[in-house]
Amino acid sequence: MSTAANPQQSGASPEPAPLDWVDGQEAILYEHCGACGKATYFRRGFCPRCGATPVAVRRSAGQGTVYAATTVVRAPSPEWKAIAPYAMVLVDLQEGIRILAHGVPGLAIGDAVNIGWHRLGERLIPCAEPVASSTQGQQKK
Ligand SMILES: [Zn+2]
Repeated sequence: MSTAANPQQSGASPEPAPLDWVDGQEAILYEHCGACGKATYFRRGFCPRCGATPVAVRRSAGQGTVYAATTVVRAPSPEWKAIAPYAMVLVDLQEGIRILAHGVPGLAIGDAVNIGWHRLGERLIPCAEPVASSTQGQQKK
């Protein structure tokens, strides 16, 4: 019986919700299930594999491998048209989650990348960048 877990009832300041890039913070957050070990990118507050609650919110180191890459030529809005054509990639992060991000031109499937950041207007956008040349070749075939 742990009733102290609800800070709103105890009168203490509620723990602020963790923020990530969607909120303008340079971070990628994900959930990790302590019961089965599943990592989930879209935060739900429960494990989609085993249903366990609560799940831990963790911060990704932003390192991974390009799973897929494409170039967007027809931008969805005037704001995006200003930067088209631009590269979009799916990146498998080391923590076991896959994210959609912008990418620097020329990225290919299997490239080792770090997630950096750029801004489009007010919006913060994750952008995959190749790992520094000193470590290139370790993950390439
Ligand atoms: Zn689970």
